Amino acid sequence: VNKRVWKWMVTFGAAGLLLILVGVVGGGDLRRSLSVLRHGERDIVPVKSRDLRQDATSVLLLVLDTTRRDALSPYRPSARTPHIAALGQKSVIFDACTAAASFSGPSYASLFTGLYAARHGVFDHPWELPRECVTLFEAARQHGLYTVYMTQHPYLRRRWHYDQGADLYRYGPDDEYLTDELVKWLEENPLVPFVGFLALTTPHWPYDVAVGRKGVLSRLSPSDGKLHRETSDATKMFGLAEAGFSDEYLPVQRDLYAEEVQRADALVGRVLSALERTGRLGKTVVVLTADHGEAFGEHGFHFAHDPEVHAPVSRVPLLVSFPQRYPSRHVPDPVGLVDLFPTVMEWIGAPCSPVDGRSLVPLLEGREDRSRTVFCFSRGLLEDRVKFPLVRDRYRFLGLEGSSLLGARGELDVVLQPMTEGFAVEVYERAEDPLHLVDLAGVLGDDPRVEGLVAAIQEYRSELLDRAPHRGLADLSQEQRKALSALGYLDPD
Ligand SMILES: [Zn+2]
Repeated sequence: VNKRVWKWMVTFGAAGLLLILVGVVGGGDLRRSLSVLRHGERDIVPVKSRDLRQDATSVLLLVLDTTRRDALSPYRPSARTPHIAALGQKSVIFDACTAAASFSGPSYASLFTGLYAARHGVFDHPWELPRECVTLFEAARQHGLYTVYMTQHPYLRRRWHYDQGADLYRYGPDDEYLTDELVKWLEENPLVPFVGFLALTTPHWPYDVAVGRKGVLSRLSPSDGKLHRETSDATKMFGLAEAGFSDEYLPVQRDLYAEEVQRADALVGRVLSALERTGRLGKTVVVLTADHGEAFGEHGFHFAHDPEVHAPVSRVPLLVSFPQRYPSRHVPDPVGLVDLFPTVMEWIGAPCSPVDGRSLVPLLEGREDRSRTVFCFSRGLLEDRVKFPLVRDRYRFLGLEGSSLLGARGELDVVLQPMTEGFAVEVYERAEDPLHLVDLAGVLGDDPRVEGLVAAIQEYRSELLDRAPHRGLADLSQEQRKALSALGYLDPD
């Protein structure tokens, strides 16, 4: 028996040593390969099997998750995003693009379908995109383009059906892997017309890709390293002070976030040079945007986006680069991510069923189109998620009924915030106050433009609440329901 044990020990020891050796030699690549094997999902419809329309204009959507406008050089020249700066030089830059929601699920759903949540049916996340929704991948596929879908966002993986219509599907452990995969595909298929989607989730909290780099970390004591992870959780939705952190922590987090965005910028650079190398730049419209922004304390929230809708989280970058057709310029008019679906349909020459969004082509061509109203809603928070009294006392937490809403039209942005009783209305002049820091409700409250916009938001809200299968309350246990009824938030069953 002793001999057998000894043999086993030698075998396991040797196998262990071999693994360590391979790990040391293979380094990151091996770790990634193992990670792809464990967590990745891959699927592909061969290009050969598709009947493609060779003359079609290709479209590539690069979506940076959680990326504020002012994190990118075209909006703030001191931002260190050189590749996106170069893209901006050849782009139409939309100064006032609004995400349809301040959190991923419904925001991507609107981007992919051209519909607001009341019609696409994604009210929270994770949440399935209903099969009957037509995504831009399905429409493009039907219209003779190859479709590519790549993400590492767990709520966008196949399980949730956002990829309906994708020929090439990749769900991977990190953005580097996805970028490699996209570059590889572009190089192997230089003549294939396509509609592609690459989500770069690197900028999303936790800002830990940069952790371990000396530049930022030298400013943190060892205990701060731990603080970084804890902060993210506690202050995500609530104030720094409430979570027990000092203001000094804010600039550190900002720097970490900026580093994450820089990493995404480098990946964008790799994709753009692959387009150029493969001769596709003149045949491909490149769109760069974000699903929502991120709060850095402007309205009491830190390192979060879902609970609110002010500009730092709802206003997103939008660059459209196709210089031979659209000379570079800024567009100040309010537009939405919801407008991308009909725009892509126009580019690829596909018919577009009636949707909530409207094609951006007139604006891209320099014509005026000022009559748009665009909306954003926040994640409805439930009572049991709220740990801090400051937030709890200020807002109603009834799932979607507690969602705050933004409407943008003309020069104004209006925020409608459900309070414990009634609504708070805030008014901002977009051009003067891009971060929504000065509420003009006291000055402009009676302005007919404000009244009109408030009415439009209320109408959008009723539709949202009417269509939601539940208002976030279905998730509640019997006990939680009782507690909410006791607080007067819920009618007793
Ligand atoms: Zn997101």
